[in-house]
Amino acid sequence: MEAPKKEMDRWIAAHWSQMLARWKELLCLGGTANEAQAMERVAGQLQQWFAEECRCQLLETGPKCPKLLVADWGPWGRQDDQGNQSDRNGAACPNRQENRIGEGNALRRVVLSGHYDTVFACGQEQQRVRLDEEAGCMEGPGALDMKGGIIAAMYAVKLLSLLRAEGVCVRILLAGDEETGHPGSRTAELLAEYSRGALFAFNLETGFLNADVCIGRKGTAECYLNVKGVQSHPGNDFARGRNAILEMCSKLEEISALTQVEKGLTVSPGRIQGGSAVNIIPDACSAALDLRFSSMADFEQLQRNIHSICAVPGIEGTSVQMQLGELLPPFETTDGVRELLRFVQEMARELQLSVPQGHYRGGASDAAHIGNAGVPVLCSMGVSGEYSHSEQEYALLSSLKDRIKLIAWAIAQSARFGGTDEV
Ligand SMILES: [Zn+2]
Repeated sequence: MEAPKKEMDRWIAAHWSQMLARWKELLCLGGTANEAQAMERVAGQLQQWFAEECRCQLLETGPKCPKLLVADWGPWGRQDDQGNQSDRNGAACPNRQENRIGEGNALRRVVLSGHYDTVFACGQEQQRVRLDEEAGCMEGPGALDMKGGIIAAMYAVKLLSLLRAEGVCVRILLAGDEETGHPGSRTAELLAEYSRGALFAFNLETGFLNADVCIGRKGTAECYLNVKGVQSHPGNDFARGRNAILEMCSKLEEISALTQVEKGLTVSPGRIQGGSAVNIIPDACSAALDLRFSSMADFEQLQRNIHSICAVPGIEGTSVQMQLGELLPPFETTDGVRELLRFVQEMARELQLSVPQGHYRGGASDAAHIGNAGVPVLCSMGVSGEYSHSEQEYALLSSLKDRIKLIAWAIAQSARFGGTDEV
């Protein structure tokens, strides 16, 4: 173990200035998912860099949507002892089949995922990007979330050649519209499709300051309720009226009572609208509710419960309709995720790095889509730092070194991870 560890340290030291230069360059390219030119520039630069080691392609995700970068690395892409580059286009890969995995492919595959868009519009990078080697920090828009993670993936893959990793290949998936939630694009679907069958995945999102990782994130859904009642005069015709506001209030109380905080299941009415004047019994009321859940099974049960509450009117003569809006699936903490955490902890111990603990996070990430494809995934595997999505954002240089080693070592040792029968 000592020998590869020293070799890795030496290799990282030799490539350190190039990594930092590329990290900086990447930060200077900007921008947000809505800036088509910037996204093209970033994707183009990444494609060029990843093509040094990988078969690399940019997939269309939808009209006017940033592309998904797919880079495939395999042992077939490295140089031989004489320094000859073997076929980088994958021709030498034994079971290439368009590099789809599963179905008899002899190689284990590990997925490294992330995104190349940021929340910051182009314009101020030049003033904001700052490398402070003395303080050990990289500052700038996206330094932490998550261009540092992209550099970690890029060099972890390069390092694999040094570790002579056999029987394993790596697929890197980088989205250009993560921060906006992939509106109108097929990115989420493609992430699942291109991850399916992998042994495990690391999502190289913003890391915790202490190198811990994320093992679960809640899903969210919007739920809309509309009550129809009967309008009438509250003085002359009270008995004929069917008050939609009153009906909505009792339904909201019933539905909110489905909350089970300890299960991570919450219902929160966030907006309500109804009635037109104080002296009219209202015939319409609408409300919007925020639903959060830790598993799709919980969500489906919640949906059924809301339906059955809505099916029975509290005030005779009223009716309630329910509609679902935007749905973001949860990143579920499956047994596979727990096992992957134990495996990564073991790898960290072997490298004498701080051993990451697993945490739950509130905000969503693309780990959910990869997890939905049945692949055990850990999130927040990128570089560490603070203040993402703010002008103070920075990342720790030391965490880049640690993550490159941890990721490369875990991939090189992946035959020791649970699903080794697939080899
Ligand atoms: Zn991010």
